[in-house]
Amino acid sequence: MEAPSEFPSVNLSDLAASSSAAPVDAVFALDSSGKTRLRFVQTGSVSVGPLVDFDLETTQVFRVGPVDLLCISEESEGNATDERSFSRAFKVGFKTKDESKGFGIAFEKWKNRSSKDEALLENGSTVPSKSKFDSKIEATSAKMYFHYYGQLLHQQNMLQDFVRTGTYFAAVIENRSDFEGRVVVDVGAGSGILSLFAAQAGAKHVYAVEASEMAEYAQKLISGNPSLGQRITVIKGKVEEVELPEKADILISEPMGTLLVNERMLESYIIARDRFLTPSGKMFPTLGRIHMAPFSDEYLYVEVANKALFWHQQNFFGVDLTPLHGSAFQGYFSQPVVDAFDPRLLVSPPTFHNLDFTRMKEEDLYELDIPLNFIASVGTRVHGLACWFDVLFNGSTVQRWLTTSPGSPTTHWYQLRCVLQQPLYVMAGQQITGRLHLVAHSAQSYTIYLTLSTKTWGPGADQGGVVQTSTGKLELKEPYYRLSQPQAYASDPQPQQQQPQVVQPQDIHQLQDEIDPSLSLEQL
Ligand code: SAH
Repeated sequence: MEAPSEFPSVNLSDLAASSSAAPVDAVFALDSSGKTRLRFVQTGSVSVGPLVDFDLETTQVFRVGPVDLLCISEESEGNATDERSFSRAFKVGFKTKDESKGFGIAFEKWKNRSSKDEALLENGSTVPSKSKFDSKIEATSAKMYFHYYGQLLHQQNMLQDFVRTGTYFAAVIENRSDFEGRVVVDVGAGSGILSLFAAQAGAKHVYAVEASEMAEYAQKLISGNPSLGQRITVIKGKVEEVELPEKADILISEPMGTLLVNERMLESYIIARDRFLTPSGKMFPTLGRIHMAPFSDEYLYVEVANKALFWHQQNFFGVDLTPLHGSAFQGYFSQPVVDAFDPRLLVSPPTFHNLDFTRMKEEDLYELDIPLNFIASVGTRVHGLACWFDVLFNGSTVQRWLTTSPGSPTTHWYQLRCVLQQPLYVMAGQQITGRLHLVAHSAQSYTIYLTLSTKTWGPGADQGGVVQTSTGKLELKEPYYRLSQPQAYASDPQPQQQQPQVVQPQDIHQLQDEIDPSLSLEQL
C-alpha cells in the first residue's frame, strides 16, 4: 500500500466564508473504512484534526487559474430517511504550476483508487479489504464455514481420525531434519495440533494461522503446553490477509476436503506458499493425487433411484406428486455418495491426477479437467465413477503417504462416488473413456461434470461401433453421507451377499407401475 501523498504549504480559502488564505498541508490518504480522503491539515501539526476533510468519491476539482484549483464536494449526512445534502467549495492555491499540476494528477490517482476497496488496519499495516479470499468466496458461505471450524466438536472429529492425525504425526516426527531449527507456518491451524507436532520436531518458531474462533482455543492449548508453546505464535486471520514477521522454511497444513478439493482450502495453501514460503522451502503435504475408477454397484444405484419413488405417488393426501418425480430423481443423482466401499466394486484399475502443491498456481484449482481412460476388467454394468485421494509428505528422511483409498483403513473423508442416472454395459477388455470436469464456485466447492462412454462392437461395427455415453452433473457441496448403514467392507469379506435384499434396478419401472396410489409413505 502506498503512503499518503502530501502537498505542503498550500493556500486554502473557503469560498462560502470568504476567509483569507492560510498555509495548510493537503494530504491524500485512506481512512480506516477504506475511503480515500483529501484532508487539509495545519502545517506542521499532525495531532490536530483536519481543518477540512473531503471524501474523494464525492469531490471534484476544477482548474481556475495557472496555480489555482477549485475543490467542490457534494456530501450528505444522516440516514437514508433523514438525509441532508450540502456542498462545500474551497480554492486551493499552489506556489508553482508544477505543484498545482502534481496535485491534479494525485487527485485523479487517489479518486480512481476510491472504487478499489482498500482499508487501513489499526496497527498501520495495510491489506486489501477484499482479499483474494473475499473476492472469490461468498460471505455467507465463509461465515458458515468458519463457524463450523470454530467448534471444538468438529476439530475433535478430525483429531480422532487416527489415520489422518497419526500419519501427520509420523510424517513430521520422522522428518525431524526438515523442522529442526526451522521457521514453520501452520496454514489453517485449527486446534493447533500440527503446530505442536512441528514444535515437537524441534521447530525454531511456528506461526499458527487460523481464521475461525478456534484460534482462541488453539492459543489455550498452546499456552497449556508451555515447553512447546513458547515457540508457537497463534495468529488469528486468513492466510490471504495476515502479515507474518518472517518467511517460513516449511509450511504444514491439512487443507484436504472430500475429493481433495472440496472447501477450496487448497487455494489458501497455495496462496500461503506464495506469501510466506522461502523459494527453497518445503510443503507438508507436498503433493495431492486424485484417483478415479469406474465402479459397479447395483445396490447403490437402486438405493439412489428409489429415493425419488416417494414422488411417484398419485394420491398423497389427495395430491398427485408425480409432476416432481423427474426433478427429484435428478436431484438424488446430483448428490455424490460419500461412504467406504469395497474395492472389489471397481471395474478397472484406477487412474490418477496429480496436484503438485509446490508448483501449481492457485488459478489451476478453479477448474480441473481430467481425461479418463480405462479398460474394464470384467463384464458388468458400470454405475459411475469412484474417487479418492492421497497426499504425499515428501520429507528429506521419509516419504510418507496419507491415503483415503477403498480397502485401506477408513478416514473421515471416506471415498466419493458419482452415480450416473444411466448405467453403461461393458465387456471385459472393453475401453471406457470419459472426462471428469470440476468447476469451482463461490460457495467453497465444485460442480462436477462427469461423462463416461464405451464403444460397443456389435451391429454398427462397420460405422466404428455404437457409442454408449452417460453424463451427470453433481454438486460436491451436497453429498449424500451413506454411513448410517453398517459398513459391509469393514466387517464382512463378502458384502454383496450380506446386504439386505432390495429391488433390482431392472425392476424399477415395473415397481413404479405397481405402486398402489392409496399406499401411505410408511407402507411404501
Ligand atoms: N490443522 C488442523 C485443522 C485442519 S481443518 C488439524 O490438522 O487438525 C482446516 C482449518 O483451516 C480450519 O480450522 C479452518 O478454519 C482453517 N482455515 C481454512 N481456510 C483458512 C484460511 N483461508 N485462513 C486461515 N485459516 C483457514
